[in-house]
Amino acid sequence: MREMSEVETALRGPEAYKVASRALELMERHQVWPTALNFELWTHYVADPDGALARELTRLISIGEPMTELVSEELAANYLPKARLNDQIRDAGDILSKELEAVAKAIQNAQKSNAAFGKELAGATKNLDKSTDVEAIKVVVSNLADATRRVHRENQSLESRLAESTSEVERLREHLEQVRREATTDGLTNLANRKAFDEELDRACAEADRHGTPLCLAVLDIDHFKGFNDTWGHQTGDQVIRYVASVIGRVAAPPRFAARYGGEEFAMIFPRENAPVIAAALEEIRVEVSSRMLKRRSTNEDLGAITISSGFAERRASESGHSIMERADAALYASKRNGRNRVTAAEGMPASANAA
Ligand code: GH3
Ligand code: MG
Ligand code: MG
Repeated sequence: MREMSEVETALRGPEAYKVASRALELMERHQVWPTALNFELWTHYVADPDGALARELTRLISIGEPMTELVSEELAANYLPKARLNDQIRDAGDILSKELEAVAKAIQNAQKSNAAFGKELAGATKNLDKSTDVEAIKVVVSNLADATRRVHRENQSLESRLAESTSEVERLREHLEQVRREATTDGLTNLANRKAFDEELDRACAEADRHGTPLCLAVLDIDHFKGFNDTWGHQTGDQVIRYVASVIGRVAAPPRFAARYGGEEFAMIFPRENAPVIAAALEEIRVEVSSRMLKRRSTNEDLGAITISSGFAERRASESGHSIMERADAALYASKRNGRNRVTAAEGMPASANAA
């Protein structure tokens, strides 16, 4: 996978027109509307054909997912370099280095005046040793008093400079934390977003390798949600997504990890847990969702109940996150094929893993 800077170079370098026309060609072939956003997505696809965005586009095309505006926006939010985020991080870096410069300068000044004070003190000791003249002693003492005041002033200004910098750095830290949270959180549900999920999955795989511990992965998808949206409208659909997310979130206490993986699709990571426990957790979610009678808030209209299907897979030795995900996805599609509203374990797992 290429570094983002390399992709940027490909988009601006001598190859740029080739990249652009290849992108248009592919868009036409896959019946993608030539909107500005789609063009941006597809030029990235061409410039970095092994990257996460390209892999996801390939997957969506292979399952025949139409490239609606919703899909494009989601892809952009999850995969395109975040210009705003980069700016904020760069600004924070600038402020931080200015602060550090100022602190270094203040420390230097304090050191200088401390050294000067040392010299003054040594000189004074020498002069006092050989002098018995009261006037001369007075001069020595007054010089010492001056030097002491200077050092004191310098130290005070260093102290206040440090206090200022400490609060500025603290403010920056909080701001960056907020930026980071925004960049990894799904706005609708407050669950982690796909980017955060992919990162967490890599981390969890590495940890499972290090400690030789099990790891399971689940994908959950609301059943017939297109129909629900068509009947009740997108806004009500959004409320349902939030509701499902809240049920999933409750079952996903750490070290478990849940994310909104795409539109009406969720994913969960279960570190250090085995298949029967995961099957039970997914079953709990399934039962809770399917038994809840939904009501539209504004009008109190009955919306009926919705159901969700899920699939899960247990990680094989040193298996990549991408590969477990594919097996969990295949299990999810088995749930869909077999009538939906069910939990399915990936192929090759003991039948007892299936709760439903
Ligand atoms: P299946 O049981 O096979 O999963 O059928 P489905 O209709 O749920 O699946 P499909 O993939 O055909 O359609 C998913 C629908 O989910 C399309 C879109 O209307 C809806 N959807 C996706 N994201 C959102 C969203 O953010 N808000 C709302 N309200 N609907 C969404
Ligand atoms: Mg669905
Ligand atoms: Mg879906």
